[in-house]
Formats: sequence, C-alpha cells, structure tokens
Amino acid sequence: MAPRDYYEVLGVPRDVDPDRLKKAYRKLAIQYHPDRNPDDPEAEERFKEVSEAYDVLSDPSKRELFDRYGVDGLRGRGYDFNADDIFSHFMDMFGGAFGDMFGFGRRGGGRRAGRGRDQQVGIRISLEEAASGVEKELDVRREEPCSTCNGTGSAPGSSPETCRTCRGSGRVTHSQGLFTIQTTCPHCRGAGRVISEVCPDCAGNGRQLVEKKLKVRIPAGIDSGNTIRLSGAGGISGTGGSSGDLYVVVEVRDDPRFRREGDDLLHEATIPAYDAVLGATIRLDGIFDEVKVKVPPGTQPGDMIQVRGEGMPRLQRRGRGDLWIQVNVEIPKKPPRKVRKLYEQLRNLDD
Ligand SMILES: [Zn+2]
Ligand SMILES: [Zn+2]
Repeated sequence: MAPRDYYEVLGVPRDVDPDRLKKAYRKLAIQYHPDRNPDDPEAEERFKEVSEAYDVLSDPSKRELFDRYGVDGLRGRGYDFNADDIFSHFMDMFGGAFGDMFGFGRRGGGRRAGRGRDQQVGIRISLEEAASGVEKELDVRREEPCSTCNGTGSAPGSSPETCRTCRGSGRVTHSQGLFTIQTTCPHCRGAGRVISEVCPDCAGNGRQLVEKKLKVRIPAGIDSGNTIRLSGAGGISGTGGSSGDLYVVVEVRDDPRFRREGDDLLHEATIPAYDAVLGATIRLDGIFDEVKVKVPPGTQPGDMIQVRGEGMPRLQRRGRGDLWIQVNVEIPKKPPRKVRKLYEQLRNLDD
C-alpha cells in the first residue's frame, strides 16, 4: 500500500498556512461527506482520507512528525487515528447536524444521553506485519442509523408526534394528598415524543446492522492480546448520545523462524563444527533484513548470541528489542573420506 502524503490528499503545498489548509479541507469534506454521498464507499473512503490528512496537518506537533518521518513516524509514536476525530473536526467547522445524524455526537456536550454499545472484533496478522505495522481492512457488523427512517424510527412520510400523555415534557405529575410527585412518562418513557407509525425496517428503534469495511492501522511492535480502540466506531446510541467504541483485538500468528519474547526475537541457527571452533561471521534473515552475526571462536552448542537492536520495534516507543541466536552445532553424520581423515588427524593430535 502506498504511503500517504497528506499534503497531496488535500491538494495543498507543503508550506500551506492554517487558513488555506482549513479551506481546502472544508471544500473536500463537504464534497465527500457520507451524507451527501449515501451508499458510496469510495466517497466515504475519500472523506476519511481528507479528514485524516486534516487531523494531522492541523495539529502542529503531528504535522512536524509527519514532515520529518512521514506516516511511519506518526505510527511509531503511537498516533492513532480514530473516527471520533473525523467527525469532531467536521462538527467544529460545520456544527452538529451532520455529526449527530451519524451517531458521532460529541462527548460531554449538550444532551446527556445513553452511549452506544462497545463492540469487539478480532484480527490476525503475521509477525512481519506486526514488525512493520500494517493497515488492515476489517469486516464489521456495525449498527448505523436506519437508512429507511434516518434513525428516527418513524415510517417514511410520518414523523414522531408529541406525546399526548405528557405533552412533550417526558414527565407526568401525580397529586397525592398534599404532595405532587413527578415521574417519567409511562407512555413515551421520557422521550416526550411517540412514534405513531413504526418504521418497518428497524421496528422503530432507528438502527440497522450493516456490514462495513473499516480500516484499522496497526502500529509496529504490536503483540498478541493488544487492543486497538477505534473510538466512536462501535454501536450507535439510540438516544442521540455518542457511539460506542470498537475494540480490535490483535493476534499475531506464530512464525516458524522466530520465537518472540516481548520485544526480543529468538532464532535458532545451525553452524558447522569448524565455525564453532574457529569463529565466523554468518548471515541470516532477520525480521526486516539480512543480519550479520559474529560467532566467537569456541562457541558451544546451545550458546546464545545477542544481536542488539534487531528484534521487534518497541510499541509506541523508540528502538527495537534484540535478536538472540541460539546456536546449534552441526556434527557431520557421514563425513566424506577427506573430512574423516582430517578428524582422524585431529584425534591423533590429542593422543
Ligand atoms: Zn427505520
Ligand atoms: Zn410522554
């Protein structure tokens, strides 16, 4: 996959000032907003892309990292792009209408409402992918606002009516002797509005399950059991609250060549007996490139040789773990005559 150039994505020069940056983003975000392009995955992808680009370039520290090290630099520093950012930028600029519709309501602002459900999904990657970091596409079953009723729960052509029991206040008052007691309206359960004609596609709950492809960026150095949180990518809230989060649980497949222990990698190498005796420099495949390993003279079977900095990248930190070579010494089973002779000479020397 081609590394992204955020400047290119937004079509701006590298020395763009914040004002022009904002303008460029605004134009593209409106153009590709999912609400303007329903059922157009390409537009949605573009929308995410421009939002991500803006998210990075509008933040001076992220922008500096990107300028210096590119996307990998951001990744290496644990930068995690999430769906919340997309919509929060959008809402900062254009107000809440779009955001609320998509269930990405801003946290803690305005109404206090129930949050959507958190969801969890697993993903398996190779050790190499874990070492370099990777972007993966996930198939997720996700709750979204029902497309038939736009999440209102009312059948098309009808709209929710003000609850007659409570006249829209959501609360009812009972008189008991001298006291008046207020309780939640039993008819509308506090919503203040009732759905007269229920949407046939979502049975009035305003939600539908959709198969979605979601991109997740897995940072270098990730290990089995690590979880990536995509905030706002979980289930939507039925009451206009913020969406739940999606937890991506990573499993790194075993690799026949390396055993992983934290950030260290262990590799077994078999060397000829003469290399063990005399010492040698051997070359073998590391996780990224070929690695040169110095075998000191007198190396014993089972000895461990440490190669610093050739292990796994450290998750969200600089540097890499070490590569440990466990040495096996190859004893020839049926040496050719010439070799046999040499061994015989060696034995005679010992006598
Ligand atoms: Zn519906
Ligand atoms: Zn009511």
